[in-house]
Amino acid sequence: MTEVFNKIEALDERLSELRKQHKTIGFVPTMGALHKGHISLIERSNRENDTSVCSVFVNPIQFNNQNDLLKYPHTPESDIEMLSNEGCDIIFIPSREQMYPESLKLENYHFGTLETVMEGKFRPGHFNGVAVVVKRFFDIVQPNKAYFGLKDFQQLAIIKDLVRQIGSKIEIVECGIIREVDGLAMSSRNSRLSAIQRKVAPYIYEVLLAVKEKAGEMSIEELKAWTLEQINREDLMKIEYFEIVSPISLMPVNEQNKHLGSVACIALYMDEIRLIDNIILFL
Ligand code: AMP
Repeated sequence: MTEVFNKIEALDERLSELRKQHKTIGFVPTMGALHKGHISLIERSNRENDTSVCSVFVNPIQFNNQNDLLKYPHTPESDIEMLSNEGCDIIFIPSREQMYPESLKLENYHFGTLETVMEGKFRPGHFNGVAVVVKRFFDIVQPNKAYFGLKDFQQLAIIKDLVRQIGSKIEIVECGIIREVDGLAMSSRNSRLSAIQRKVAPYIYEVLLAVKEKAGEMSIEELKAWTLEQINREDLMKIEYFEIVSPISLMPVNEQNKHLGSVACIALYMDEIRLIDNIILFL
């Protein structure tokens, strides 16, 4: 039976009971408008823990664009139904007041170059907002393991660094990208695409797959130029960045070190809808 909590106190009481029974807790933080990508995280948490907790909270402080926040999809009934069907034990849907009471002192985190590249460059304040909310959830839920998707590649690097910085013992579990049958990475924002945009959007993954195929023969510079050319050909897409970076440092790779690990990351706009995706080139 799935239980839904809106208040920290009640959730804490239930989780304390479970901890007393030595139950392990897996935690999946989300912003709702759930899809199979999110559900894959729950599925993994269910497999690896006695209890799974999923939070649904659209975190205002991680949005650098107010319009994006206002238009962020909300589907609470369907979220609860999907989570219940998957056998998620506990759903936590807090209000803003619960998450950010006036008495709460908001920390300021620093992630060095991890937060100055790619998403960090174009979304000022975003990762600090993510770190603050994730730390707050970690304090509330105190899970053994927490699950994050590789779809948000840079976010995962930030979370791993956060856990190191705060000296937390929570194990961060990386989960693969779940895609639609046509290759488009699942995202809550996909529901905002028009029919024509939705038809064109799988082109992102098509280009990324071609990048992976060409990675053996083209130089990094050639690959970057080729990719920009492909995306610029598509009138409905406006590229924000395309970078080929080390999966550890997130710094751009070069010809000498690219074989030690590299991931191609892309962000683009279709009208005002921002989509991101990535693919591992060398591991
Ligand atoms: P969000 O609700 O967008 O904050 O995402 C919550 C979690 O689900 C994050 O760890 C995301 O990386 C993960 N996630 C979102 N989309 C996907 C996807 N298509 N495949 C795998 N994980 C995903």
